[in-house]
Amino acid sequence: MTVEAHKETLGFQTEIKQLLDLMIHSLYSNKEIFLRELISNASDAADKLRFEALSDDALYESETDLKIWIRFDPQARIITIEDNGIGMSREEVIENIGIIAKSGTQQFFKSLTGDQAKDSRLIGQFGVGFYSSFIVADKVSLETRRAGLTKEHGVRWESQGDGAYDIETIEREKRGTTVTLHLREGEDELLADYRLSSIIKKYSDHITFPIIMPKTKTDEETKETTVENEVINSAQALWAKSKNEITDEEYKEFYQHVAHDFDEPLTHIHNKVEGTLEYTTLLYIPSRAPFDLWDRNKQHGVKLYVRRVFIMDDNDKLLPPYLRFMRGVIDSNDLPLNVSREILQHNKQLDSIRSGAVKKVLSALKYLAENEAEKYATFWKEFGRVFKEGIIEDHANRDQIAKLLRFSSTYDDNSVSQISLDDYVKRMKEGQEKIYYITAESFTAAKNSPHLEIFRKKGVEVLLLTEQIDEWVTMHFHEFEGKSLQSVTKGELNLGSLEDEAEKKATEQASDKLKPLLEKIQAVLGDKVKEVRVTHRLTNSPACLVADSQAMDASLERLLKVMGQNAGTGSKPILEINPDHPIITTLQNEQNKARFADWSHILFDQSLLSEGAHLEDPATFVNRMNQLFVAMATPPSLIITP
Ligand code: ADP
Repeated sequence: MTVEAHKETLGFQTEIKQLLDLMIHSLYSNKEIFLRELISNASDAADKLRFEALSDDALYESETDLKIWIRFDPQARIITIEDNGIGMSREEVIENIGIIAKSGTQQFFKSLTGDQAKDSRLIGQFGVGFYSSFIVADKVSLETRRAGLTKEHGVRWESQGDGAYDIETIEREKRGTTVTLHLREGEDELLADYRLSSIIKKYSDHITFPIIMPKTKTDEETKETTVENEVINSAQALWAKSKNEITDEEYKEFYQHVAHDFDEPLTHIHNKVEGTLEYTTLLYIPSRAPFDLWDRNKQHGVKLYVRRVFIMDDNDKLLPPYLRFMRGVIDSNDLPLNVSREILQHNKQLDSIRSGAVKKVLSALKYLAENEAEKYATFWKEFGRVFKEGIIEDHANRDQIAKLLRFSSTYDDNSVSQISLDDYVKRMKEGQEKIYYITAESFTAAKNSPHLEIFRKKGVEVLLLTEQIDEWVTMHFHEFEGKSLQSVTKGELNLGSLEDEAEKKATEQASDKLKPLLEKIQAVLGDKVKEVRVTHRLTNSPACLVADSQAMDASLERLLKVMGQNAGTGSKPILEINPDHPIITTLQNEQNKARFADWSHILFDQSLLSEGAHLEDPATFVNRMNQLFVAMATPPSLIITP
């Protein structure tokens, strides 16, 4: 088959141009990282080749020593980074280099503020890899051939970072990839042996393949020059060293390599497990959430090695989805080298490694929570919402996970806070049996909810749950240390022994007395409500809505949402009224039927509003309000009753 060496010029995804400009600007002060990024890619390419060759030896093309070469030419003002790894086909080049194959790209661009300093912080979160070469180069060319393809299938990609790139098919004998950087004006200082070696040592010492710099030596006497290949890095897997031989700096650099992150990690967890199953884990908690954190299917964070050979990095077999923010490596001594991804799907050893790794992560989090409050707060802010999924997903570790959860609460509702369930339990009132919570769409809606009135009056703390995931968490999480969790918006208020006998009695009496009124309101509201009843949970508000305790697990919030979309079907809320409120007294005395109906509807609608729900017919609500205002402002003699 002949391959046309057709050359085409393609446009980058528009965002890439924008990204490049931002990156060059933001990362310039740290420009050396371009080399780390390109070496990381070369090392990943070698890893991939080694793995694919496990099942197809021919891919080695009789060259099994995998290496990375760094060369420079002061006259031509270029630096090249070459590997004999997996290489890329034409399609792969377009796919990998021409577009940013990351979910969340759009979101990233939306989050940019235009303020250089702020935006620079964001760039690390995005991870720019290959494109970092444009920090120092004004033209980058990449030549590559995928292992296993014939030499006619080489590809040359070239771009000046100006919004377009050229791609053409070339002949390339060597498998793997060569990246050539044509340096920008003023970057000549990089064209020096010692400079490049020291950058490599600093950022890439731990790369497991030799990084070679050919060095020209001149014999003093004969003036003959020879080229010697000098290996710059120690080429030792960092995780295989013992902890006390590794500096913080090395841990950090290795993190930046595995995670493709410019930031420092929050913490690392390094363990060697020995016994029937032997493996090493070196895992990191990043200090910032990546943009694709929400994508549960996207798991490229932890790499599996078997006796230092890279096997895979995209399998949720390594850590469960709720820990998908973790980065690092797991290296097993026992798994067979020729494992396929399919075998790994059902591998008992891998299951044990996974549960071991989860335990290590949980105890590291516990340690942080107890000893490094600030770091834990950062962890929670960045990853808490994802971590909460663990309550639903990971039954075996639920108790431990529950202790690591953090919430806002009425204990301090001046700002979003981070209260643990242990804190809550310690502060429980004498006689309080349950852990109370409210779910709402926002922190402000939660803390101002009428449902909290009685709790505030009695000084009973209520957790304020305001994230979407909380809905699901509360459906699965009913008990903490023997105390049940109780929604304050569901069922009849039952404060157990916190209840005041006199209050109870007063409510009963009011219920009897107001029975006719309750029935009249119910008649007006019809099937909007299941029931209208008296409550003593309110002190300031005239009425509120609660979910039926029989309603299938539905929280009030969800119930009302469903009502809004699908009025009149399914469970209905209960309207509870405050017998001591002046509006209720007014209503009792209201003789005008039409006005009574208006009051009843307003009570219902305003209760909906204070739950953050949408009114089905807001205009009518406003009309009714206005009519009542007019009535209040007009002398009784002038009111014309319809
Ligand atoms: P990342 O490495 O974070 O995925 P990059 O922009 O650095 O992002 O690289 C994009 C992709 O291009 C890589 O995931 C890889 O598939 C491919 N790639 C880059 N460099 C090489 C290389 N030297 N050999 C083979 N593939 C490469």
